[in-house]
Amino acid sequence: MHTITVKFGGTSLASASQIRKAAEIIRSDPARRFVVASAPGKRTKDDIKVTDLLYRCYNEATDGNDFSATLEKIRGRFQDIITELEVDFDLDSEIEKLREHLKTAPNADYMASRGEYLNSKIIAAFLGFPFVDAAEVVRFRADGKLDEAYTFRTLSARLIAMDQAVIPGFYGALPDGTVKTFSRGGSDVTGAIVARASVSEIYENWTDVSGMLSADPRIVDSPRVIDYITYTELRELSYMGASVLHEDAVFPVRKAGIPINIRNTNRPDDPGTMIVASLPASVGRRVITGIAGKKGFSSIHIEKSMMNSEVGFVAKLLKIFASCGLSFEHCPSGIDTISVVINTDSFNAHREEILHRIRTDLEPDVVSVEDNLALIAVVGQGMVYSKGTAARVFSALYEADVNIRMIDQGSSELNIIVSVEERDFEHALRSIYAAMEGLMK
Ligand code: ADP
Ligand code: ASP
Ligand code: MG
Repeated sequence: MHTITVKFGGTSLASASQIRKAAEIIRSDPARRFVVASAPGKRTKDDIKVTDLLYRCYNEATDGNDFSATLEKIRGRFQDIITELEVDFDLDSEIEKLREHLKTAPNADYMASRGEYLNSKIIAAFLGFPFVDAAEVVRFRADGKLDEAYTFRTLSARLIAMDQAVIPGFYGALPDGTVKTFSRGGSDVTGAIVARASVSEIYENWTDVSGMLSADPRIVDSPRVIDYITYTELRELSYMGASVLHEDAVFPVRKAGIPINIRNTNRPDDPGTMIVASLPASVGRRVITGIAGKKGFSSIHIEKSMMNSEVGFVAKLLKIFASCGLSFEHCPSGIDTISVVINTDSFNAHREEILHRIRTDLEPDVVSVEDNLALIAVVGQGMVYSKGTAARVFSALYEADVNIRMIDQGSSELNIIVSVEERDFEHALRSIYAAMEGLMK
């Protein structure tokens, strides 16, 4: 039997009319047997995602405020879907359970997960597919990491006995049964897990754009759709802010060699993007695949005379970050200087302690911090074969009058990363895109 796993994102399931589109896509190919569903997302630009309403409700309850208006909004979203789809579903008792939960010992992950849980139950009823609760099959270890062995064993055994199923995305459970979610956007990860456990031929990820675009469409006007991209390039771009796919979603499918196809629920005839292990021969020698970036970084800059000859200096510096449980993004160095670029939110949680320990343990001549930095990554496996890519990036930024604060090129020559001030971010990204567009064909 052919098997395809389909995951539909929040905007694809935001209303009854969107769910009907998804159902039509599912029914148009009998191989689309396993469906992973998100919570209802935004119906319009100014709408609120159900997941955000659920977190709001939780915060109101724990702050001792009245949560009934928010809970009513959540009920209203689902009620509209149920009424328009004409499915038989006892929403009131589900909402009462949530009210009781909020009044007793509210749990943020449990609350957030209910968007996926309820939407999936309703969609299962509409499609006539059985519902499989992710809490029974997706298992996290006590340290919060996915328990791959347990999850794949349990889920495979469950799905092998089924022709079809709807599985909610975004959550699973700890060994004691407590519900736990992935990070935001995590239904993409559930989709990848289901694709692997069901030995799907393909993992279709249905969203609101016609594939992975070569830059964020909210910043660059009409960026090119990437037809094929490797798992490695995709991982670089999604990690660096191309938010169309959760950065961890490639791992389960990459291991099994299952391609991901990103598709548009509103334009189902568009072929979308294929994410594969290696590019087919038909794809020419493209130099650049895409550009992505994000704000919110800080750079800790350290100077010390003769740093280069002080054995173990870098190790001691990085140990300070590691002992606070922090990972860093980049660590460019000169002869007597070194910088550590790190996500500002993580840094802020230990800022004073880190700066104090750098001063006392390393006795530098200068320590300074620069906040409000953004990183931009230019990604492409073809870069390694071509000359002048870095020169193009730097001259684009020079011509755009943007000051580059840091440059890093991965040793695999898969990317060039530059850091700029946050206020220059959008302008810098557009300027680089304009200069590189010719290399993306
Ligand atoms: P879903 O709810 O379907 O999971 P997301 O909102 O998580 O969808 O992801 C889709 C959105 O990602 C798009 O609407 C787009 O605005 C944004 N996005 C950012 N960077 C890119 C990119 N490089 N390619 C495509 N979409 C991107
Ligand atoms: N609903 C969750 C979120 O908004 C998970 C997802 O959509 O993938 O983050
Ligand atoms: Mg998403």
